[in-house]
Amino acid sequence: MKNSIILSVLLISSIILSCSRQHGNERKVWAWMSGKTTMTPENWEHYFKNASDAGIDAIILECHGGYPEVIGDSASFRDSAAIYIVKTALQYSQKYNIELHAWIWTTNRTEMSLRNAHPDWYQVNAQGESCLDIKLYNREHYRWLCPSRPEATEYLKDRVSELAEIDGLAGIHLDFIRYPDAILPYGLHKSRNVVQDRVYPLWDFCYCDECRKQFKERSGVDPMDIEDPTADEKWMQFRWDALAKMASEVAKEIKAHGKTSSAAVFASPEESKKLVRQDWANFKNVDILFPMIYHKFYDWEDQDIERATREGVEALRSTGSKAILTSGLFVGHVPKERINEFFNYAKNGGSKGICLFSLELVDRTDGYWERLKEAIKIYKGDI
Ligand SMILES: [Zn+2]
Repeated sequence: MKNSIILSVLLISSIILSCSRQHGNERKVWAWMSGKTTMTPENWEHYFKNASDAGIDAIILECHGGYPEVIGDSASFRDSAAIYIVKTALQYSQKYNIELHAWIWTTNRTEMSLRNAHPDWYQVNAQGESCLDIKLYNREHYRWLCPSRPEATEYLKDRVSELAEIDGLAGIHLDFIRYPDAILPYGLHKSRNVVQDRVYPLWDFCYCDECRKQFKERSGVDPMDIEDPTADEKWMQFRWDALAKMASEVAKEIKAHGKTSSAAVFASPEESKKLVRQDWANFKNVDILFPMIYHKFYDWEDQDIERATREGVEALRSTGSKAILTSGLFVGHVPKERINEFFNYAKNGGSKGICLFSLELVDRTDGYWERLKEAIKIYKGDI
């Protein structure tokens, strides 16, 4: 009798233990946040304290974005501003026991030091124009490195390496790891004033000398001569592979420093390949993929979050990837009264956790912090 009681107690405690372990993985809540060198201690304190109170486990902190800050020598490649931002944030993430990941833009690199030194590393469209010479979509920051250039990959490895050396940082997060939009997400066409019923040469990249040379060596064809580039499977595959290779190599560098590698990717595997030539199910060495299921930008229904999540999970399974998928939700598309409904779409689709874009949006929306705290409690099963 006594033994069976002890056995039951042991059994119950092991179930509780395994549940709580699973909990940590399955229901982890992340959020993206922008970091600046100009933030005051009060600013940092505000975000990290509120995030901690709300039950957020990990923050992905932007330290190098589309308008990167410069500290010191403006010709230097070393990203002193990003390093400074991450080191400052670590004081607060450690105080509040929040995991910190450094978020950088990856192929979309706008720093003048690099643009001035290596303009030839940048992507060229099907009209022969460098993205440095035109303002794509009227965006100053649309300047993209070519994934076929080994030197560009080496440059990115140096940048992640100098961040990955920072003690206490949990990981590095690769954003804008793609080609420029051949087609913008459908819900944005009107506001950006574009007609994109198919891919047009202005938005079709990369036709730089290196890409043309490599593709011609393999196929005997100069991609400039391809009549319908989107219908040409080999040319599409070449571009998917070039980017996947670059992503895999940069992620490998992150992991070589013992850090978690992650990437923010477009909402579903098929849309990603089509819109931005990003075949993320084939990215190697990436531990966590965060599809940005900002559904309204695609003109999708709320329930499509579940479908897109499931498509991502299935695509990873089919490529044999071991990466975890965590759905990213756009706070502006998730009404504060219905947060759990959206969390459940992601969960039911197979997402391990949730990532919110962004803490700033949460902060700017009246009453969102309080509702989020309640929603996270329910999501984690605490009430
Ligand atoms: Zn190229």
